[in-house]
Amino acid sequence: MIKNNLDVVKECIQDACVKVSRPIEDVTLIAVSKTKPVSMIEEVYALGVRDFGENKVQEIIDKYEKLPKDIKWHMIGHLQRNKVKYIVDKVALIHSVDSLRLAEEISKEAKKKNINVSILIEVNIAEESSKFGIYNEETLELIYAISKLSHINIEGLMTIAPYTTDAEENRVYFSRLKKLFVDIMSKNIDNVNMRYLSMGMSGDFQVAIQEGATFVRVGTSIFGDR
Ligand SMILES: *Cc1c(COP(=O)(O)O)cnc(C)c1O
Repeated sequence: MIKNNLDVVKECIQDACVKVSRPIEDVTLIAVSKTKPVSMIEEVYALGVRDFGENKVQEIIDKYEKLPKDIKWHMIGHLQRNKVKYIVDKVALIHSVDSLRLAEEISKEAKKKNINVSILIEVNIAEESSKFGIYNEETLELIYAISKLSHINIEGLMTIAPYTTDAEENRVYFSRLKKLFVDIMSKNIDNVNMRYLSMGMSGDFQVAIQEGATFVRVGTSIFGDR
């Protein structure tokens, strides 16, 4: 079942790329394995996937211990400052940085471990009151502030689009994030390398790819309902 799901998702990624003439290598699939057991992750790993997304610190720690070390773990959930120290050296990318205080904590812990940590800035692109992430207009200022910290590299933007059953409704938000991404890239800020755009989930990843996503975060369509 999982193999079939994964094949369908990969085909959809391919179709979306073809539709807008993007090379398929531009898009990396993150299999969102939150709440799912190690055995299911092993199944997906065996099918060649190496990027997995989790939203809880404790779950990353547990799964990190039990699974192969060439997995790239993506922290996609809200991150509390007091938990940063447990995962800075375990994750490939933190997608959910939305404040200077959180970035300062990441910088501090990364420095202690003498590593560099890659992050994305989470933007609440539809300005939903229920969501984490900073607003569009505040993003540039936050990026300037974080860019001055050591041991932390800003590599792009992430968003969680509104829940909808019609993916087309989110096209406007994905294109808005892409525009912000390009605007920030054009500023050539020191220590900022805008190369990743993390957007699109099970319900809307094809539209996100058409609008420029480089990471899509897909859980349900691969692993089934949670
Ligand atoms: C759970 C989650 C996903 C995956 O959602 P699906 O609809 O199951 O594909 C993607 N991104 C974030 C931030 C999530 O928390």
